[in-house]
Amino acid sequence: MSTYSSMTKRLDGKVALITGGSSGLGEITARVFVKHGAKVVIADVQDELGHSLCQELGTDYISYVHCDVTCETDVEKVVELAVSKHGKLDIMFNNAGIMGDLETRVTESSSEKFKRVFDVNVLGAFHGAKHAARVMVPAKKGCILFTASVASKICYGSSHAYKTSKHAVAGLTKSLAVELGEHGIRVNCISPHGIFTPMVQKTFGVFDKKKGEEMIAVSTVLKETILEPEDFANAALYLASDEAKYVSGVNLAIDGGYSLSN
Ligand code: NAD
Repeated sequence: MSTYSSMTKRLDGKVALITGGSSGLGEITARVFVKHGAKVVIADVQDELGHSLCQELGTDYISYVHCDVTCETDVEKVVELAVSKHGKLDIMFNNAGIMGDLETRVTESSSEKFKRVFDVNVLGAFHGAKHAARVMVPAKKGCILFTASVASKICYGSSHAYKTSKHAVAGLTKSLAVELGEHGIRVNCISPHGIFTPMVQKTFGVFDKKKGEEMIAVSTVLKETILEPEDFANAALYLASDEAKYVSGVNLAIDGGYSLSN
């Protein structure tokens, strides 16, 4: 029985830091990582949600730190805290992101709006990767993950700032996979199609789950299957686990083939 449970805990003994872990895809990934034996630190700006997730899952397994990923000092501190609390950092998941304005045309956009999306999605991801790498390089191992998007592969839906930022995240993934491979660090990103999360709810003003999923389903290839947050978390679980020990530089689409059809 104990052998079975240790076999099914695919992140046993690992320490993971997840940005944007209070809500949506980061939250579900935190749940799955804890279930699979990881000690998890979530970093976010939504303090109440973060603390309540820790209360629910148990503060021995998961902790919350307020961290705005656009602020390098915040990110540096949360990495230090994870290492001082757990002795190491195995998995850095740079997942925090915003969509920004949906309909802004380039002719009507502003550099402030564009910069805000880039600050969170790209600079924030860079901060996380940089400070994780400073710990992982001396340890000669580690796994850095990013959340990109189907918008890193095709120019779908969202604003030009969002699409450009996610193309940049995919570029950062490839660049760091090459740079950090010699130190035993794997770097990958995950590119989901639409998943009904608070980001999608707020952006599209659709709060009913069924209606949201129907809206997303309009632009899918796998018509009979709904993409669930757990599908994203399972992809993260695989990439973060030792099962993916030779996988690096990949932009893993969780989009039912959608990015191939456009
Ligand atoms: P979400 O809004 O539920 O979660 C995003 C989290 O990031 C929130 O908890 C938010 O507080 C946090 N965050 C935002 N700005 C931050 C900052 N400056 N510092 C720290 N944390 C910050 O949305 P989600 O759908 O779970 O999005 C997670 C990631 O998935 C994002 O990178 C998003 O671009 C990407 N994504 C989502 C979808 C989708 O359909 N839901 C599709 C493709 C990619």
